[in-house]
Amino acid sequence: MKVEKNKKYPYQELRNSLIRLLREKGITDEAVLAVISKIPRHLFFIDTAFHIHAYKDQAFSIGAGQTISQPYTVAFQSQLLDIKAGDKILEVGTGSGYQTAVLIELGATVYTIERQRELFIRAQQQLHDIGYFPKFFYGDGYEGKVVFAPYNKIIVTAGAPSIPQALLKQLAVGGRMVIPVGEKDVQKMLIIDRISETKFTQKDYGSFAFVPLLKGTEK
Ligand code: SAH
Repeated sequence: MKVEKNKKYPYQELRNSLIRLLREKGITDEAVLAVISKIPRHLFFIDTAFHIHAYKDQAFSIGAGQTISQPYTVAFQSQLLDIKAGDKILEVGTGSGYQTAVLIELGATVYTIERQRELFIRAQQQLHDIGYFPKFFYGDGYEGKVVFAPYNKIIVTAGAPSIPQALLKQLAVGGRMVIPVGEKDVQKMLIIDRISETKFTQKDYGSFAFVPLLKGTEK
């Protein structure tokens, strides 16, 4: 659900330049490009002095030692998810909430989990302020959110040392998970498709660098 549909946010020219850059870098999904050109990424930056930097293709600190993902990474993961209107999506790692807004604008119903309380609280405030209402959970995304499973899509926005088994179980048959997998500095972006109850396929979409997926929660 989104309520600020026709609101015009500042920095449209900067968003247009970002879209041109994302096209040059190989993003082709028009629906993804359209929502990135619309969502006010600057509002996910706490310090207004940094608003001007929000449309550079860069990750940026959001406090609690975490970062808002680089726009290219958000676009790439969203493109890989191949979202259909009405998809039920589990997002692991709410962070700033920016990727959450992108998923909602693409027509998904989003369940999002964050393990850092400070970010969990701030992202809710932020998303509500601009009219996005996903289901928020404070907890360890390694475990997924079994009570609402299965999900058509699962997106993990932190680097996982290995594929969490709980998430595989919570993926619907015919569903897709997009997850960066690898140790510390570099992860491989994987698509995992669930073909049947027991069969999964896996494809590698290149190297990325994410903050780590961590176990447990932090106050
Ligand atoms: N999509 C977010 C990415 C934030 S960075 C954005 O663009 O803002 C990744 C986030 O994952 C961080 O906020 C981090 O606290 C969170 N995270 C790491 N491990 C987690 C886990 N096990 N469960 C839930 N969230 C986790």
